[in-house]
Amino acid sequence: MAMPKHKISKSRRDMRKANHLKVKSANPSKCPQCGEPKMSHRVCIHCGFYKGKEIIKMGE
Ligand SMILES: [Zn+2]
Repeated sequence: MAMPKHKISKSRRDMRKANHLKVKSANPSKCPQCGEPKMSHRVCIHCGFYKGKEIIKMGE
């Protein structure tokens, strides 16, 4: 039977969980239109552009 040699402490176990959450939530992508950080494969919430086209008309 495969058994871990040492018990992982609560803090180390929780740090691993926190790391997974971080990877899921982080989406490092920059908008080519305005340079603001945006989610990839989504319309930019700052300028409303996606794939070089204006999807959402932004007000003044
Ligand atoms: Zn943008």
